[in-house]
Amino acid sequence: MSSKLFSVFLDLIFPPKCIFCREIALPGQSVCEKCSKEILHASAIKCIYLPNSGETILCFAPYPYTGKIRESIIRFKFYGHNEYTGFYAESLSAQIGKKFPQELFDSVTSVPISAERYQVRGYNQSELLGKAVAKCLGLPYREYLIKTHDNPEQHKLSEKDRRRNVRGVYRINEGEQAAGKRILLIDDIVTTGATLGECASVLLDAGAKKVICAAAAHAL
Ligand SMILES: [Zn+2]
Repeated sequence: MSSKLFSVFLDLIFPPKCIFCREIALPGQSVCEKCSKEILHASAIKCIYLPNSGETILCFAPYPYTGKIRESIIRFKFYGHNEYTGFYAESLSAQIGKKFPQELFDSVTSVPISAERYQVRGYNQSELLGKAVAKCLGLPYREYLIKTHDNPEQHKLSEKDRRRNVRGVYRINEGEQAAGKRILLIDDIVTTGATLGECASVLLDAGAKKVICAAAAHAL
């Protein structure tokens, strides 16, 4: 039995739950019929400020971080629902594919979490998303960035404090070659852009030729 057929077979025994409302979805589907009509893309392109150069770069995000989408991303991020990766990665890749030519990028990376956080949570949803987006777009995934230590959670802070909070917590992974590369940097949610701006600055300081950011959702 092929793996695709096997997963449809499993879906018949254990029907999938809609990632947005948690009602039963059709076999092979991540979203129920009601939500697939209700939940639409509301793409946003944000400008991300780079603290070192004062320049800005683009961040693309297909979904608004509100209502059922917000609840779904919280389950994905904090409550172990890493099976949501496929849906968000495919959706994000399809939208990126419409906005940018594939040849624009050499590789994909993501915003890292610290080793301590990784131990506790067991996964990093941005990394799962980044790896799956790389696969969808046919690009290599590279771990260019390392988060050296934990900092207070960004969503509890003001915009000014968020920028200060992320300063110096990311560094380049010396084992990877970011210099000269055009990089697609992935995160789960973009809010003020402080985290993405800091990560992009580290990549550009290491010689990256270009950085464009993308996130599953935007909280504006
Ligand atoms: Zn639903």
